[in-house]
Formats: sequence, structure tokens, C-alpha cells
Amino acid sequence: MISVGKAMENLDKLLLENRGLIRATKGFMPPDEGRALAVSLFSCPIIKGIPAVEIGSYVGLSAIYLGIAARSQGRLLISVDHHHGSEENQAGWEFHDKSIVDPVSRKMDTLYLFRRTMELAGLSNSVIIVAADSQSYATVHAGPIAYLFIDGGHSHAQTFSDYDSWVPKLVDGGFLAIHDVFEDPELGGQAPYIIHQRASAEGFTEILAQGSLRVMRKGGAT
Ligand code: SAH
Ligand code: MG
Repeated sequence: MISVGKAMENLDKLLLENRGLIRATKGFMPPDEGRALAVSLFSCPIIKGIPAVEIGSYVGLSAIYLGIAARSQGRLLISVDHHHGSEENQAGWEFHDKSIVDPVSRKMDTLYLFRRTMELAGLSNSVIIVAADSQSYATVHAGPIAYLFIDGGHSHAQTFSDYDSWVPKLVDGGFLAIHDVFEDPELGGQAPYIIHQRASAEGFTEILAQGSLRVMRKGGAT
């Protein structure tokens, strides 16, 4: 059996190998939080056949971190995004990138860029790309999940819907990671913070905090 120390050493090696790609990939995941994300998936119980799920792929920055951990553990990551961007990515908003607008449909389209990132990272067999609205896909994804990363639309309605549709699928002892958790409203929107509070009230135990990333375990047991 591989020790945790050894696994972490491997992780840092893999992250170093992908340093160039990580630097070149657009997105919203600082390196320290990305590493913490990968470490958290590493530490999450592996149950054969039960996947990890990411809500909010964008161009694949966080999926590089999660995918590297998933691949080295032989598990699958399902990454869900409709690939048309969140509210704040649309024209006229703070996080708009006009190079990501499809010239024909005139919509934001990150799908091919995400696929390219996974290809370049060698993660095509470890990351299942789901191009769908998170809530609709949740209605047909009937099975349990071991790990959930919520980083999709950050409006209250969308964040609460992601929580309501996906958290019930987490197995006991599974991990819930939430990005962009800001207690201070001056620093960022409150929706991720509200679901973080809700998870605490519903018996999740915090196991990791790095920047605005929070990772919690479902149930108190180790
Ligand atoms: N995790 C990414 C950032 C995600 S940005 C990174 O590390 O860089 C948020 C993403 O959520 C956007 O790509 C947007 O298209 C997606 N999104 C917003 N609302 C969604 C919804 N209802 N269903 C699926 N994806 C959604
Ligand atoms: Mg985020």
C-alpha cells in the first residue's frame, strides 16, 4: 500500500510536470488552492466505481488538479459545465473574455478549450466531460458520488441549486469542496459562504481550508 507521504510526493512531481500547462490555462484557481484541491481528493475514501464530480469546468484549470489526483488513484472525475459561462463571464461583466465567444453562435463556448486542456494533461481517460446544465444532469445521474466540488454559477439561485441537487448524492464519509467561500461580502459573493454554513449545520466537518477553498467531510467519522 502506498503511504500518504509518498502519494503527496508523487502529486507534487505530477504538478511540477504540468507546471507549464497550469500556467498557460485560463481560469480561476490559484496554485495553492489547486494543490489543496488535489490533496483533498487524494485524501477522500476510494470506493470502487463511485466517481468524483466537479461542477464548473470552464477551461479546465481545476480539473487538471483534480484529474491528476483522480488518475493516480484510478478513479474517475465527472466534470459538468454547460460551457456557456456564468453570469459574470458574459459580455459587459467583470470576468468576460471575448476570445472565448463562438463567432457563429455568439455564445461563450469553453467546451473545446476544456477538451484540449484535458488532452494536453493526459487526462482524457480520467475525466468524463459532461456538457450540460448542472441541475438537469443531476436529475439523470442517479448513482452515488464520493467527492463533490462546487464551483459553477455563483448566483444564489444557481449555487443553492447545485447544493440541493448534488449534495444528497454524496456517500457518508464523502467530501464536499466549495470554492469562493468569502465570509466578508467585500471580498466576494455570499452564495458559496451560505452553502458552506449550511453544510456545517447539516453535520459536515471541515477538514481543509486554503484561500477561498473549503473542504468538508460528510458526517463526523474519519
Ligand atoms: N473551476 C473553474 C472555474 C469555473 S467558472 C476553474 O478552475 O477555472 C464557473 C463555470 O460554471 C463556468 O464555466 C460556467 O459555464 C459554469 N456554469 C454556470 N452555471 C452553470 C450551470 N447551471 N450548469 C453547468 N455549468 C454552469
Ligand atoms: Mg471558483
